[in-house]
Amino acid sequence: MINSVNFIHKDHQYKSVFFETFGCQMNKLDAELSLGLLQEEGYRIVDKVDEADVILFNTCSVRQHAEDKVYSHLGALKILKKNHPDVIVGVLGCMAQKDGEAIFKRMPHVDLVCGTRMFSQLPELLLKIRNHGSHVLAIDENQIVNVKRVVTYRPNIYQAFVTVMRGCDNFCSYCIVPYVRGREISRTIADIKEEAQALVLNGCKEITLLGQNINSYGKGLDGNITLGDLLSELNDLAGLERIRFVTSHPADMSRDLIRTMCRLEKVCEHLHMPAQSGSDDVLKKMRRGYTAGYYREFVRYARELIPHLTVASDFIVGFPGETEEDFQETVRLMEDIRFQNCFIFKYSPRTGTKAAELKDDVPDEAKRARNIKLLELQKHISLEENKKIVGKEVQVFVEGASKSDPNRLSGRTRQNHIVVFNGSQELVGKLVGVVIHEVTDLTLFGKLTSCL
Ligand code: SF4
Repeated sequence: MINSVNFIHKDHQYKSVFFETFGCQMNKLDAELSLGLLQEEGYRIVDKVDEADVILFNTCSVRQHAEDKVYSHLGALKILKKNHPDVIVGVLGCMAQKDGEAIFKRMPHVDLVCGTRMFSQLPELLLKIRNHGSHVLAIDENQIVNVKRVVTYRPNIYQAFVTVMRGCDNFCSYCIVPYVRGREISRTIADIKEEAQALVLNGCKEITLLGQNINSYGKGLDGNITLGDLLSELNDLAGLERIRFVTSHPADMSRDLIRTMCRLEKVCEHLHMPAQSGSDDVLKKMRRGYTAGYYREFVRYARELIPHLTVASDFIVGFPGETEEDFQETVRLMEDIRFQNCFIFKYSPRTGTKAAELKDDVPDEAKRARNIKLLELQKHISLEENKKIVGKEVQVFVEGASKSDPNRLSGRTRQNHIVVFNGSQELVGKLVGVVIHEVTDLTLFGKLTSCL
C-alpha cells in the first residue's frame, strides 16, 4: 500500500485521499505520480478510508484474484458512501480500463473510473465530480501519459523507478496487458533524461527503468533509438550510481544490448527475462515468438560477455494443452539455466485474450503439483548458487533497515541479491563492501568491510 508513505503536503486544506495500489511495479509508480499530483493540489494522504474525502484503488487485471479483491473492497464501501455521499470513490488502472462502464453497473456507488492512460488528469477529474456529480468515465486508451513528475514526493530518496515506455505490442496469447495498457509508446530520451537528472539532484542514486516490454524501447521514436542508446545517455549522469531495467522479452532481446550492458559501468548485471515455458509447443501456443533453444543460446551468449550476470524468470504452469512431457521440458530449462529466482504462476484464463478461447484442460491438481515442483527446484538452485558467494566480497547499495530484523541493514548487490548485515543508518544510500558468510535461498548475510 502506497498510502502509508509520509509526504509533506503543500497546504492544509480540507481534502484528504486514501490510495491503495494492487499489482505490478508500474502501478506502484503510477500511484506515486498520482499522489504527487494530488499533493500539489493540497491533498493530504490518510491511512484509513473513514478519514478520506477521496478513496482511490489503483487496480490490476493480470489475475482474477486481484480483481476479486478490488470488487470486495468496493462492496465494503457501500455503507460508508450511503452515510457520506460526498466522499468520492474511484477505480483507476487496468481494471478500470478493461471493465469501464460495467464497474458503475456492478458498483453504482463508484464515482470515477479512470483508465491506465488518464491518471495524469486526476485532479481535474475529481473536480469534475465535485462540480457536476458522479459517474465520470475516463478511459481513452489513445491518450499519451504526460505527467510532470514532482520529484520531491517520493517514498524513497535514494532509489526511483522511471517509466520509459507504456503498453505492449506483443499480444502473448494469455496476457491482458496489451488490452488494458494499450499499444507501445516510448518516451523520448530527452524527456527521460530530464526526469532522471531531477531525481539525481534530489538525492537519487539508483534508477530502475520500467516498461512492460522494455527491450523494445524506442519503437516509434525518430532515429532508430534503442534501449542501449537510452542506457548510454543515462550512464553519463554524474551522481547516478546504478541503473537497472525491467522487464525484458526474450524475443526482443538483442546481442547489441548485451554488448552495451557490458560496456556501461553503471548498468547492473541482471536480467529479468521471463521464459514462461521450456516447451516449444507451449511457447508457440503462448505466441512468445522464440524457442527454448533460442532462450538457452541467448543466455549462454550473455553470460559469456557478462560472466557475473544473473537471470530471473517467470513461468506459467498448466497452460491449455500442457502435457507432462511439456512440463518436464520446463524443468529441464530451469535446471540448465539456473535462474537466480523465478515467479511461478498457475495458468488462469483472462477473458478477452486468445488463450481464453482454448480449453483450460489441465486439472487444478496437476497445476498445483507442477507449481510446487518448480518452486522447490528453484529454491534448491537459488541456495546452491548463493552458496558459491560465501567468502566473497560483494558491492552492496544500502537500501535501509532489514525487513526481518530492523536492527540490521539491507541492500542489494549489482546482481540483485538481497544482503543483510550490521551497520549504522548513516550508510543508507551508500555503496559498501560486504563479505558474505552465510546464505539462504533468498538472502545473503555478511559483514561490512568498507564504505566504497
Ligand atoms: S510481452 Fe509481456 S506484457 Fe506484452 S503481451 Fe507478452 S506477457 Fe504481456
